[in-house]
Amino acid sequence: MTRIKYTGSCVCGKTVYEAYDLKDVSYCHCKQCRNMTGHHMAACQAERGNIKIKGLVKWFYTHENSRHGFCNNCGSQMFWQNDNRPTISVTAGSLDDSKGLKIIHHIFIEEKGSYYEISQNEKQYVGYKNNSTVYD
Ligand SMILES: [Zn+2]
Ligand SMILES: [Zn+2]
Repeated sequence: MTRIKYTGSCVCGKTVYEAYDLKDVSYCHCKQCRNMTGHHMAACQAERGNIKIKGLVKWFYTHENSRHGFCNNCGSQMFWQNDNRPTISVTAGSLDDSKGLKIIHHIFIEEKGSYYEISQNEKQYVGYKNNSTVYD
């Protein structure tokens, strides 16, 4: 089986990564992600063993065990990780080529901004997936 390789980078180019087998894009509308990103989070999950990061990542905890990673030179938002999970997420915007990835779902929709709408054709969860009400 051929694995799809993705690469990503920040604005200044000092932080880069390689990732394999990314999942489709999850949008998180929680208040922390909205503050961190300036809009909402769009992130693709990978197993931790499937990603190699090189550069100057600074991690910031928005919650116990939940941290955002950004380039410590230019500030580009690149990673999200929960220390209790075996995965790491990369921001969709940091991908050099998103190679056919699509939107998979929206989470924490009750915290979304009032200035935009979520398409009714896309799966929506009140909290984390698997842990909350589904709207579809
Ligand atoms: Zn940078
Ligand atoms: Zn969030």
